[in-house]
Amino acid sequence: MSDSILQAPFMIEVIRACSTIYQVGWGENHAGNLSYRLTEKEKETYIDRDWEPSTEYQLENPCPQLCNEFFLVTASGSPFKNVQYNPDIHLGIIQINDKGSAYKVIWGFREGRKPTSELPTHLLCQNERIKQDPESRIILHCHPTYTIAMTFIHQLDESAFIKTMWSLNSECILVFPEGIGLLPWMVCGNGKIGSATAKKMNEYRIVLWPHHGILAAGKSVDLALGLIETVEKAAQVYVVTEGKVKQCMTDQQIEELAKAFNLKPKTGILNNLVY
Ligand SMILES: [Zn+2]
Repeated sequence: MSDSILQAPFMIEVIRACSTIYQVGWGENHAGNLSYRLTEKEKETYIDRDWEPSTEYQLENPCPQLCNEFFLVTASGSPFKNVQYNPDIHLGIIQINDKGSAYKVIWGFREGRKPTSELPTHLLCQNERIKQDPESRIILHCHPTYTIAMTFIHQLDESAFIKTMWSLNSECILVFPEGIGLLPWMVCGNGKIGSATAKKMNEYRIVLWPHHGILAAGKSVDLALGLIETVEKAAQVYVVTEGKVKQCMTDQQIEELAKAFNLKPKTGILNNLVY
């Protein structure tokens, strides 16, 4: 693989995202991981076909939508704050085989690093999001503080959570009219949470893991990060106003907004739940 890959715009964007997430406090210690699916053009430009790949690692859950795809992935145990200094240690590129059942490392993960322990979750979510949007490229996981805090003080009912989010800021219905997926608390890093998250990604681009963090999917790093920023801002308002709320956006106001922007809010949320 040529060193020019370190100057590739997608590489620079991913490294910047890791630094940004650390700087805003959503990627403490080893928290946070991401996967980015390379475009055809990026594969042609940056993937060296003579690269000697690693041994093949089997995937517990095959991902048939991802046959022959390449992903830039963060390494297990790598702090986001350090990615910018040694990207070829803290990041790697994997190639999925032609059956979607195994992968090989083709670049990075120097010094014995491995892909994030959440790789099965990432690949299952990527597999699901591609079905919804062939241009979907990134899955991003981090620990936004107020979003996590909100999962301690708001009921963990998905519809109620979506309605509260929509009522907190005009941006919310515009940015995620389809709502947000909310899982029950689960053990992370194993197959069950991966499958459950991917199932939610069938409907939503954002999934919350209560008392842990958030996952967002998007066509670009900026779009996925933008979803998280919007959720986090609303959650911050919720947390700092908790117990003091005298008014919030009404169902009618949310509907007016959606109508003004030609959006169809998820059904079953408005007009039937209390704040
Ligand atoms: Zn996490």
